[in-house]
Amino acid sequence: MSETIFSKIINREIDADIVFEDEHCLAFRDVNPQAPLHVLVIPKKPIAMLAQADDDDGELLGHLMLVARRVARDEGYGDAFRLVMNNGEAVGQTVFHMHLHVLAGRGFQWPPG
Ligand code: 5GP
Repeated sequence: MSETIFSKIINREIDADIVFEDEHCLAFRDVNPQAPLHVLVIPKKPIAMLAQADDDDGELLGHLMLVARRVARDEGYGDAFRLVMNNGEAVGQTVFHMHLHVLAGRGFQWPPG
């Protein structure tokens, strides 16, 4: 996978407002927030998109969701949050390092646009 802006954030080559980190993942505020809470949870492992994850990445993928839940709770949004993952350019992915959007703090439409 080629280097992205997110690998530079992992490597501390560019700044980000990091809210959580462990050995497997990093969570930081989106630079262009779409809700009062908008955090991106990314694996440190370079996976371009969910479609390119390996079958044995299941534990890591589950971990990202548990970290997303933890971030929403720690930021004071309890159980009211939305998770979004864009997989592929055709559906809006712009950074090709897999990431989970954690959004909270406003009303949301369904179905999403
Ligand atoms: P995607 O469209 O790929 O699902 O989401 C990429 C997200 O990354 C966007 O919401 C965009 O605002 C965010 N983003 C892009 N570049 C940066 C950056 O340099 N720093 C941070 N914190 N977020 C970024």
